[in-house]
Amino acid sequence: MPEVARLSDSHVHLDRFPGEVVAGMVERARAAGVGLLLSVGLSVESSRQTLALARQHPGVLAAAGVHPRWLHEVEPRLALEAIEALARSAEVVALGEVGLEYAPELAPPPAQRAFLSACLELARRLDLAVSLHVVGAHADALHLLAEHGPVRAVVHYFVGDTALAGRYLQAGCFLSVGKPAMRPEHEPLRQAVAELPLDRLLLETDSYPLPGRTTEPRDVLQVCQAVAELRGQSAEAIAQATTANLQHLLGRRAARDAQGRCW
Ligand SMILES: [Zn+2]
Repeated sequence: MPEVARLSDSHVHLDRFPGEVVAGMVERARAAGVGLLLSVGLSVESSRQTLALARQHPGVLAAAGVHPRWLHEVEPRLALEAIEALARSAEVVALGEVGLEYAPELAPPPAQRAFLSACLELARRLDLAVSLHVVGAHADALHLLAEHGPVRAVVHYFVGDTALAGRYLQAGCFLSVGKPAMRPEHEPLRQAVAELPLDRLLLETDSYPLPGRTTEPRDVLQVCQAVAELRGQSAEAIAQATTANLQHLLGRRAARDAQGRCW
């Protein structure tokens, strides 16, 4: 398989890795043809670090947000103010990751919905895309998207079936898929990936340091190859389309990278 140029990884957590590891990862990604990475924040501090990395590494763009798993640790109004301040930096091209995940130990669902609602409103006001994390709360997420629409949003690490994909597509969302699309046990997802309109598809690795997990942004090449096989298209076609989709999603701020270079 020849190297595929101009791939992009629409969802990584570079700030979670030590600085010297990040430099190597970005370098290896570039060598594999992955030239555009969207690194998303988990908390205000994580978003701040993500912005710093975007300033440091050409090809790395930043999203600022508070992940629903971190929401119970913050005062929502202050967090939103901090996110808005970060989002006014040129290197911040999206809000994220934000979303809904319902679990007893996390912020109560009404608080999560209120925060996501405020983020969707902020995204509309600042003309920013949104990187969405939704686990076990798709009906509520779709409801909020309809309420605030049209919003430029991507549902990250999508693992649903064709029916759920259709509902998000109808809401105007992009769907980003990662390594689960490579695994036979995710047959409903693989079916959805095979049928999705190509202009709504994104690729990601969700790279994040976890014991035993070696995933890094260059692996988006493997995801690309799996998606190409599922769809009966060339990996080059998938790479080109998904990178164009990411640029389209991110809009005008992504037209240049952290160093002011054009894509
Ligand atoms: Zn994530």
